[in-house]
Amino acid sequence: MFEVTQSYPENGEHTGSYYAASANPSPKRAAVAGRIDVDVAVVGAGFSGLSTALHLAERGHQVAVIEGAKVGWGASGRNGGQIVNGLNAGLDRIEKRFGREKAEAIGQLVQEGGNIIREKIATYHIDCDLKPLNVFAAYTSNHMRDLEAKKALWQRHGMDDHVMLDKHELRDHVSSDVYAGGMLDTTGGHLHPLNLALGEAAAIESLGGRIYEQSVVTQITHQPTPVITTEHGTVHCKTLVLCGNAYLGSTEPALTSRVMPVSTQIIATEPLDADTANALLPSGACIEDVRYILDYFRLSADNRLLFGGGTVYGGTDPADVEKKLRPAMTRVFPHLANVRVEHAWSGNFALSYSRVPQMGKLAPSVYFAHGYSGHGVTGSHLFGRILADAIDGDQTGFAIFEDLPWVPFPGGRRLRAPYSTLGSWWYGLRDKLGV
Ligand SMILES: Cc1cc2nc3c(=O)[nH]c(=O)nc-3n(C[C@H](O)[C@H](O)[C@H](O)COP(=O)(O)OP(=O)(O)OC[C@H]3O[C@@H](n4cnc5c(N)ncnc54)[C@H](O)[C@@H]3O)c2cc1C
Repeated sequence: MFEVTQSYPENGEHTGSYYAASANPSPKRAAVAGRIDVDVAVVGAGFSGLSTALHLAERGHQVAVIEGAKVGWGASGRNGGQIVNGLNAGLDRIEKRFGREKAEAIGQLVQEGGNIIREKIATYHIDCDLKPLNVFAAYTSNHMRDLEAKKALWQRHGMDDHVMLDKHELRDHVSSDVYAGGMLDTTGGHLHPLNLALGEAAAIESLGGRIYEQSVVTQITHQPTPVITTEHGTVHCKTLVLCGNAYLGSTEPALTSRVMPVSTQIIATEPLDADTANALLPSGACIEDVRYILDYFRLSADNRLLFGGGTVYGGTDPADVEKKLRPAMTRVFPHLANVRVEHAWSGNFALSYSRVPQMGKLAPSVYFAHGYSGHGVTGSHLFGRILADAIDGDQTGFAIFEDLPWVPFPGGRRLRAPYSTLGSWWYGLRDKLGV
């Protein structure tokens, strides 16, 4: 199995997700045509690009977002919608790899993503079904010990919003017998991610920013001033920000080997009656378990169970998403065995080898951010804010992440997907054995 190298695999329409089917109305936006000049051009209308552009527009910068398909077409419009604080890589791992000072600085920043999201929703009145609470569910006593350690570590970094739950207490949040307990994050939550992206896009435009859709960037020139080329036109700018994440493919060769596309899938059931829905997830929290290959699930505003899981290294889509995920869903909720699945889809996130997201510069005026490794709803909003700060003249946050060394995947571009599959098989086996 070799990974997908094609940079732009679909036709520009949203994938067949529950989110696309329940999206708020949004205008059809023009493609780039002819020559466009702008101060800051941002490639990619996912959360990273939108957050960067919105923070810049708020500060009066002239900004244009260039999107190959539609606003929120990538991971940002198809994800689990879970506001999970922190990064995929634990702060302990960050401390071990990059030192205590970096871990302290990152620890202070990582809680901000959720606040940025809540602030944008409130400021721009974005209708995206925001709900509070997320729970990390544990299968084994080892997992519980890991969660205790995580809670203590976060406390050390000034975060005091976590509550340990024993098996009995967990049932206030998820009625399933499979879990040993869990941990509640009272500052977590969930939302309709595509509607958040569409709301942020509208906010950018209300501040004078421009968004171009159906404009796949095929060539990127860094110097003397950045220029990007699309099929029908070019964008010339003073500053360029690349936020294509897993879908950028090989368009920017300097970024290709830094991250690997990985796909994960979601199914959405038919709407459940209110009693059934409340009985499944009584507090309305979203849930993710703590295994390496994890399940994540929550209720939508119309009481569907949105159940996600699975990973495919290299970013290919499984032939039958429902067939892949239904057994996992019925393991957690056996009485949903006969429920109808109405939507099933797949999307790619960008994995970095260390699981720490990356941001940096490819040239004096060319920035990038990517690699949230599956936990990017909050991280992408934070990184967008930090990039906007940097472009606006405050390099403090940018400096923390810019010089973090990144590690290439073993096996190079050809073999990194099979190597990672092997690695994940090993961790999957450990999950199954409960060690
Ligand atoms: C199925 C799924 C479930 C997930 N669930 C969660 C979750 O519950 N919680 C969580 O925290 N994280 C989750 N994630 C991860 C999270 O969605 C991502 O980390 C985050 O959305 C990344 O945002 P982004 O803007 O960097 O990338 P994307 O949202 O992928 O946006 C990149 C954009 O760039 C555009 N683009 C790429 N190349 C070009 C080009 N050459 N020209 C023009 N445009 C281009 C793409 O079309 C795309 O719209 C999930 C991811 C997936 C796929």
